[in-house]
Amino acid sequence: MTEDTQAFDSTVYYDEDANEEAIVHKTVAVLGYGSQGHAHAQNLSDSGIDVIVGLRERSSSWDAAESDGLRVATPAEAAAEADIVSVLVPDTVQPDVYENAVEPNLEAGDTLQFAHGFNIHYNQIQPPEDVDVTMVAPKSPGHLVRRNYENDEGTPGLLAIYQDATGDAHEEGLAYAAAIGCTRAGVVETSFREETETDLFGEQAVLCGGVTSLIKQGYETLVDAGYSPEMAYFEVLNEMKLIVDLMYEDGLGGMWDSVSDTAEYGGLTQGDVVVDEHARENMEEVLEKVQNGEFAREWIAENQAGRPSYTQLRTAEKNHDIEAVGEELRGLFAWQDADEEDEEESTEVTA
Ligand code: NAD
Ligand code: MG
Repeated sequence: MTEDTQAFDSTVYYDEDANEEAIVHKTVAVLGYGSQGHAHAQNLSDSGIDVIVGLRERSSSWDAAESDGLRVATPAEAAAEADIVSVLVPDTVQPDVYENAVEPNLEAGDTLQFAHGFNIHYNQIQPPEDVDVTMVAPKSPGHLVRRNYENDEGTPGLLAIYQDATGDAHEEGLAYAAAIGCTRAGVVETSFREETETDLFGEQAVLCGGVTSLIKQGYETLVDAGYSPEMAYFEVLNEMKLIVDLMYEDGLGGMWDSVSDTAEYGGLTQGDVVVDEHARENMEEVLEKVQNGEFAREWIAENQAGRPSYTQLRTAEKNHDIEAVGEELRGLFAWQDADEEDEEESTEVTA
């Protein structure tokens, strides 16, 4: 049974909905010990589950995982031993790791578990029909998944079932979500398709891509009109965080309430002048390329070719004037967080 449609409903699962029996006697192979991998592995282990971390022989993470008290083996050995294989290596290397280390070691009734749907949704990994395929995706970077767990707090997450061969995929997925701390905060059901497409669209059109373009064009507009780069940086980049924090805490309304009436009136009248109906049409184009697989094909080909355009674009972004201005300004002001200040205290004047 393959589920592939829109699935977000208002059901939110909490600790009391999860049955730890569905996972507690199983062995979980966590492949990769990066952002998500280290958090899943340690949280699962602290929740009493048998964990084995799968890493390449010369991986620098090998010692880190061992000194965190975890068993480590090669990805193939870990997958062979496990009932649940949690694939937490980078998305671009997952197909290769799957083909070489996981697929030969999958048994009927095992589970393939992901934290993002890209490779399943775009058919880069095609699992056999006799395994469960699940996704438990914390909506947060791994270091927070771990820190929240240690502080008895939760991290919101998504749950999706792509393939339910055993009939227990949902119960087991929920138990996995509980074991990494997600049901403490709340777990929302979605599908691989919905998670993958909304994630890609969001990061391209609005978050990573949209916001950086908006910032760069605002900066260039001011600097080209003769204003100082430093003022331009403060106005369009530094203040972005303050505005976003207000929205994060209390929605758009919370932000509008906190700014001046002048800012509110000007923002309400001019925002749509800048991000106008063309931007909307462009967003629809971006979404279509996500939906029809064009973006996925392009990204896969880019990786196969050794990332030529990606490398070029990265260099251009790094060399944008706003980066040099920002680096200098951030160095001049005392707004780093407490940790950084502590580190720098020894070399700085204390008054
Ligand atoms: P990462 O880049 O932080 O870590 C990858 C790990 O895999 C490292 O330990 C690396 O050494 C190891 N690795 C790399 N190549 C390998 C190979 N060929 N064989 C074995 N190990 C290898 O990755 P991440 O950001 O934690 O992403 C893992 C998954 O989690 C991805 O599917 C990603 O989309 C998803 N995800 C990430 C985040 C996040 O905040 N980083 C959030 C939600 C979901
Ligand atoms: Mg197995």
